[in-house]
Amino acid sequence: MSYIALYRKYRPRKFDDVIGQKVIVEILKNSIINNHISHAYLFNGPRGTGKTSIAKIFARAVNCLDNSDGNYCGKCELCRNLEINDVDIVEIDAASNNGVEEIREIRSKIKLVPTIAKYKVYIIDEVHMLSTGAFNALLKTLEEPPSHVIFILATTDMHKIPLTILSRCQRFDFKKINSEEMFAKLKEICDLENKKIADSILKLIAKLSDGGCRDAINLLDQVISLSNVDLTEDEIYDLQGRVSQETIIKFLRSVCNNEIDIGMQLIDDFTTSGKNLNTIVDELLILLRNISLAQNIDSYFTAEEKEIYLTFDLSIDKIKEMTKILLELSNQIAKSTNQKNLFEIYYIYLIHTVNYRYDLNNDDDYDVNKNNVNFCDNSQVKQNNNVNESEIIDMDIFRKIRINNCFVNADKKILSKVNKDYERINDFIANKVYNNVATLLLTGKIVVASDEYLLFNFYDKSLIQGFMNNIKKIEKLLFEIYDVNFKVVCVTNDEWLMLKNEFISKKKNNIPYEFIPETNIEIKNKTSFEDVTSNVFGDDVENIN
Ligand SMILES: [Zn+2]
Repeated sequence: MSYIALYRKYRPRKFDDVIGQKVIVEILKNSIINNHISHAYLFNGPRGTGKTSIAKIFARAVNCLDNSDGNYCGKCELCRNLEINDVDIVEIDAASNNGVEEIREIRSKIKLVPTIAKYKVYIIDEVHMLSTGAFNALLKTLEEPPSHVIFILATTDMHKIPLTILSRCQRFDFKKINSEEMFAKLKEICDLENKKIADSILKLIAKLSDGGCRDAINLLDQVISLSNVDLTEDEIYDLQGRVSQETIIKFLRSVCNNEIDIGMQLIDDFTTSGKNLNTIVDELLILLRNISLAQNIDSYFTAEEKEIYLTFDLSIDKIKEMTKILLELSNQIAKSTNQKNLFEIYYIYLIHTVNYRYDLNNDDDYDVNKNNVNFCDNSQVKQNNNVNESEIIDMDIFRKIRINNCFVNADKKILSKVNKDYERINDFIANKVYNNVATLLLTGKIVVASDEYLLFNFYDKSLIQGFMNNIKKIEKLLFEIYDVNFKVVCVTNDEWLMLKNEFISKKKNNIPYEFIPETNIEIKNKTSFEDVTSNVFGDDVENIN
């Protein structure tokens, strides 16, 4: 009997088997229950997080004759037919061919009704890899899809997809699977396979897979095939040609502490144990990225991870310099006949950059702390106990007034214009003054625009505070880009969904948004806060909070 890879064997077959994407699964199930099916979906998220699995399950469920609970039954005529012949569920991998032919073929056949099912479902994986021609062909299809067709576009890189396509899709952002859920899944598989693997090893596998279920199960597969021996954690890293996170941290610390002996010894160890030096460069880059994220985004890491990353006292400028050096090393190393030698030279560069270069300069701009604007400025709150409740409430009201005002003269044309130039923010990523707010802005998007106001939407709730704390700086940066003095404000995803509904219902009932002057608000206590917010949003203000 041929061996089936664990990943294929334990691929989720039903919505309830899917881990880590609870919200998305609920929304999709409800859309099936209520028969609110879109004709185009965009599944966006890192690899191995279940995009294709969920797309396939959805394709089956939407076609089932007995799908009143949102799942497919597996017993009805359509379910049985699709099990034998899934001709109506078409998978296209845009990564292996750039797709013009396939998309043209879809266009020519799209009018034909499905062979056996209710809906013909096209799943286009890695859709960002489509060529411009293929995107154009796809766009034409998305503009007027026949009622029996559903597109599910999956991507790991949403920013490469044209806005014209994005705007026609219902979008779902898939999250990395957290290590507890992943651990539970791995344990379940071990039980079903009757294999005993130590919890510590399973936890390590969950961690190493970085939120990707496929990688985790594939690594488990390798571990199980070697399970006659007792594997150590280091051997797990070896399986992947990697070194432990601990070692990578030790290595970077040797750079920061100017401990050349330790670093040189480690490089020696890497090469004698046959480690892939390129992988180590990648790991160092990831570590630098994590350090700068931990400095700037409050809730991205667990407390334990954050504590480790924040022990590195590196300014954004130094991180930038080190990243440059490592990228150059990564380019050179593949061509080199003496990789060890090269690695050592670049190691010295790193030491030099961190420990000497800026001291010689003694330039204030290189002050370690100066350029680090902490987005979630807890430290400031701690130092400055004057921030009292009423100021927080004021900020909240200020935010809500601005949100209201964004809608007063909202204009789709202005929105598409500002979005078109939005990527110019990238030019400020390396700018000493604006780098932090530029990074922040790139994680959000503009959802409403008028000639005076811009409304931003952030997926991550914790970024709202950082945005509001840096509002002046953000407005200055946007002036650099658009040459317009926009007033800005931001909302979470949940808020945005509600605001959108409110906007639609107001539009339907012909109720205009009324401009509220920002200066008229001087509210210092909770009672009047409620009054004002109910003026702004009506009585269902609780829904917005
Ligand atoms: Zn069925």
